[in-house]
Amino acid sequence: NLSDKLDNAFHVLKGHGQITEINVAESLKEVRRALVDADVNYKIAKDFTNTVKERALGQDVLKTLKPGQLMVKLVKDELTQLMGGEAEGINLSGNPSVILMSGLQGSGKTTFSGKLANFLKNKKTKKPLLVACDVYRPAAINQLHVVGEQVGVEVYSEEGNQDPVAISKNAIAHAKENGHNVVIIDTAGRLAVDEAMMTEIKNIHDAIEPHETLFVVDSMTGQDAVNTAKAFNDRLNFDGVILTKLDGDTRGGAAISIKSVVNKPIKFIGTGEKMDAIDIFYPSRMADRILGMGDVVSLVERAQEQYDEEEARKLQKKIAKNAFGFDDFLNQLQQIKKMGSMKDLLGMIPGAGKMLKDVDIDDDAFKGIEAIIHSMTPGERSEPKIINASRKKRIAKGSGTSVQEVNQLLKQFNQMGKMMKMMQGGGGRKMMQMMKG
Ligand code: GDP
Ligand code: MG
Repeated sequence: NLSDKLDNAFHVLKGHGQITEINVAESLKEVRRALVDADVNYKIAKDFTNTVKERALGQDVLKTLKPGQLMVKLVKDELTQLMGGEAEGINLSGNPSVILMSGLQGSGKTTFSGKLANFLKNKKTKKPLLVACDVYRPAAINQLHVVGEQVGVEVYSEEGNQDPVAISKNAIAHAKENGHNVVIIDTAGRLAVDEAMMTEIKNIHDAIEPHETLFVVDSMTGQDAVNTAKAFNDRLNFDGVILTKLDGDTRGGAAISIKSVVNKPIKFIGTGEKMDAIDIFYPSRMADRILGMGDVVSLVERAQEQYDEEEARKLQKKIAKNAFGFDDFLNQLQQIKKMGSMKDLLGMIPGAGKMLKDVDIDDDAFKGIEAIIHSMTPGERSEPKIINASRKKRIAKGSGTSVQEVNQLLKQFNQMGKMMKMMQGGGGRKMMQMMKG
């Protein structure tokens, strides 16, 4: 899937100490391939990677923790921008506010009309009215009535009337009389873009001048979604896009392409068949989803703010020489604490959240450790080997802990030293064996 592919792309960068023009180009080629595979239009993907490339080469990358992570961040930021930057709401300033749904048959208009009615109704200040303007199939009118019943919203329909313009106008009058401050008009779509459908939706649009015209599109239709969006936008100049069927592992590429081609904000997404499966569209969350890396990007950002590269280099040397002592350990603890609460940090690492769910990680847990280390002499800190029984007793007393706790810390510290050496030697497999016990 897309995130595996991007992983591969960034893998290329991991072996390098710095970003060079060559390895940036190499990894961005992979990014581009991954985007195209996710249904992003080729030209858009290409423009996108070119922009990221310029940014990457323009940055002072040597100061960053890891070039690969900087690239992840750049790609994510750029992707977020491409999808609109900020979340955008819908215009509810009218009384009533009229919202017109458009889109192909099967895109999810009727379902989304119900979801939106439900979403607004839950805001308490809104009293929506659903309007059935898919007049050619009795089943369609019925479907809207079922949806309306599910969410407890009134549905306006006219039996036997096949003029959607007249029905819309009557519905708006009905809304005014009955205190509905939002009118959601569900319309007919066809299986493909054709003149009859376009004329009809355009006629409704021109007659009622909605406050908000929404184009509903099935995100699973890939490249077709873009062409359809363009056709509707050319005629309707709609205000926003609704991306449906983004549940499961649907690829999000359509979001990127549509936004770039019609330059209209994506406002909501549909994530299931149920009436509560609706979400406001947040570009940065969508970028996360597309990149499939949870909140790892913000972890990177925080690390970049707090971590001193020079410190890290010194530390690595010490570990290699077996000279990593308690002072260094204390330093590390402080670095970690500066980055934020342990739980937060661990929660941001993909997979770790689940693993650590049952483990109680408490920021206070560090306090005892710090007290013990503070009670050590400088000699003891740099050479923990010399800590014998009488020193342990003194340290325990000074830190208000027990000899047992001091012992535990010394043991943990020893294990940590071993692990760090292994990681340095690239002994990932050895470490896994050790952890398995
Ligand atoms: P319309 O022809 O545009 O009115 O489309 P419908 O609202 O009737 O939806 C067509 C089909 O897609 C129905 O079976 C819906 O249950 C389904 N559907 C709509 N939105 C979503 C969604 O967000 N996720 C999933 N999984 N199915 C959806
Ligand atoms: Mg429908």
